[in-house]
Amino acid sequence: MEVIANKFIDFIITQKCTYKCRYCSQSKGHVKNRSHASKHVISGFYRFLDNLDKDYEITITGGEAILHPEFFNIIETVKNKGFKINLITNLSFKLEQYQKIFDILGDSLNRFDISFHIDQIQNFNLMLEKLEEFMLLKHRITKTTFFIPLDKIDAKKELKIDKIVRMAKKYDADFSFQKIRFLNTFKNPNNEKYISHHQKRKTYAKLCFAGCESAVIYENGEVYRCYSSRFNYSNYLGNIIDSEFKLNSDAHACTSSCCNCPKPQAYNQICIERDYIEAFGRTAKNIINLPRLIIKNKQIVITKIKQFFNF
Ligand code: SF4
Ligand code: SF4
Repeated sequence: MEVIANKFIDFIITQKCTYKCRYCSQSKGHVKNRSHASKHVISGFYRFLDNLDKDYEITITGGEAILHPEFFNIIETVKNKGFKINLITNLSFKLEQYQKIFDILGDSLNRFDISFHIDQIQNFNLMLEKLEEFMLLKHRITKTTFFIPLDKIDAKKELKIDKIVRMAKKYDADFSFQKIRFLNTFKNPNNEKYISHHQKRKTYAKLCFAGCESAVIYENGEVYRCYSSRFNYSNYLGNIIDSEFKLNSDAHACTSSCCNCPKPQAYNQICIERDYIEAFGRTAKNIINLPRLIIKNKQIVITKIKQFFNF
């Protein structure tokens, strides 16, 4: 099986965020969990990095990663361990904070993406000015994509979206409209003009390198194959604080009917081949462990159900 895969690890170092987007699926926010990764988890992460090939890109994310009291130390340590670093922000911090990041990381900062949650921005014109300064500050080698999640769109919001897109073109940044994700299902925006760049792909039983060449680490140290599979028992890989923790050594069958993870798709981690026998076995494991998973995540499940009925 020959696949050219780019490798990445996403580490959610905090669940805290400066915004409260009602559609937040990146973080487990809006529930009682507002935790930062503890010293114990961070040490486990460093130990894990010490045994990881240097061709993995490391994304330090959240919530808003900058809110973690150890954020600057973490990015510096990851850089000193020889990894390229990706960051993402909603641009709600002062420019000095971003300048400090550029100073620490230099050309180790592979990507610095920006997500625009238009409903949460209090002064849009000020935000645009800050965006322009940010683009002028950053190292030319650092790539940037403007992510624009699409919630309910009206004429006023359309104007703002146009301004962000114009700014992306002016500074040669990519931009991507994102459908909001709710309980792992994308919702269509109310304006067909904006369609997601990411195609839905039927992935059940397809072999996928997520879990082997990529993984998502939560602030409590739990590691999952990908964002979509984090509520499936069979995709739990272990806890980063465990000194024996290892990624999978090969691709495994996907148990999701449709892949909602843009990154493994963009990074070419999903194979054409399917393994139905493995997929059925993993699905059975997920079903058997569903009650345990619901109990463990009951706060998230209750919050999401409440959100759903308010939609
Ligand atoms: S900015 Fe991102 S992490 Fe923060 S609440 Fe919004 S979607 Fe969630
Ligand atoms: S949901 Fe997508 S990224 Fe996750 S295992 Fe399935 S195919 Fe891979």
